[in-house]
Amino acid sequence: MMDQPDALMILLGLVCGSFLNVCIYRVPRSESIVHPASHCPHCQHAIRWSDNIPVIGWLLLRGRCRHCQSAISGRYPLVELLTALMAWSVTTLHGPMVETLLLFSFGCALIVLSFIDFDHYILPDVITKPGIATGLLIAGIPSLGLPGWHAPLPTLEYAGIGALTGYIGLRAFAWIFATLAGKQGMGLGDIKLFAMIGAWLGWQALPFTLFCAAVLGSVAGIAWILVSGRNRHLPIPFGPYLALSAWIYLFYGPAFYLWYLGRMY
Ligand SMILES: [Zn+2]
Repeated sequence: MMDQPDALMILLGLVCGSFLNVCIYRVPRSESIVHPASHCPHCQHAIRWSDNIPVIGWLLLRGRCRHCQSAISGRYPLVELLTALMAWSVTTLHGPMVETLLLFSFGCALIVLSFIDFDHYILPDVITKPGIATGLLIAGIPSLGLPGWHAPLPTLEYAGIGALTGYIGLRAFAWIFATLAGKQGMGLGDIKLFAMIGAWLGWQALPFTLFCAAVLGSVAGIAWILVSGRNRHLPIPFGPYLALSAWIYLFYGPAFYLWYLGRMY
């Protein structure tokens, strides 16, 4: 049985997911995310509020603009559902409400960054830099980051080391990779995202996240080339795999370390 806070978080996820769609579209185009109101990118008609209801609006319109009938990507409802799923997943951590909402906002940033990276191969500074700062700021609030919680927000020390080693570590890793492979594997955006993950989840999250992202990225990259005949010379965005791995760490990382190291760090 789903209780009330879970249902409220799912609802929050759907509504915020609709806003994340706006961010994914507008942030890389340097457009304002609040103005103008949502409009069809083809005919510029404003979208009425009832058509803008997450998932349902898209289903009722059967994925077509009410005015010009041009197709509306199925990715819009997908992002809304994904955000709802992410919102529900943080409730399973049973953390205090403030921490739950903070982690939800972190998840929102990860979703926006992932889809922008898929579309444009960039991870905009306007999200990663404030993301690093916010992670550090939250870690600096002494009443948060409760050590007893299953997936705690880190202490300021862990977050600070996380942001720093995330940045320096991945820069070094990228340099070694570029030297050995003779090609650029990672951009500065990936490095800043990694630092952001360190700031939000602590340095302990970094080895797990990097390893998991490398595995997921390789498997997905090979599958992408084999299944859809994607050109193997096209770059493969790494941000989405870093983001997904950080999220996996949130739920399974501590248990993984316990199993692998035989103790908690
Ligand atoms: Zn239209």
